[in-house]
Amino acid sequence: MATKKAGSTSGSKIEAFKKLRDEARQEILAEIADLEKQIEEKKTEARELGFITESAPARGKRAVGARACKICGQLGHNSRTCPQREKASAAKS
Ligand SMILES: [Zn+2]
Repeated sequence: MATKKAGSTSGSKIEAFKKLRDEARQEILAEIADLEKQIEEKKTEARELGFITESAPARGKRAVGARACKICGQLGHNSRTCPQREKASAAKS
């Protein structure tokens, strides 16, 4: 890499142009990579918040995707599969 040639003017414009173009390209590529990263982060965020689910038609304003269990109030399962269900029903005595 011998680009530092003081005094030589021939082709310096082309060299400068190439350098600018290369810099612009790298900048754009970096920007794209950054945007893609941001998109992935947002997707992960949305998935964690429950905005993106396999079967969420976004019904209502408070569509959270993951429904809270009616028995224990926890997310991730419903009243049918609640681990607290048996305890709750057994506690009735
Ligand atoms: Zn539960």
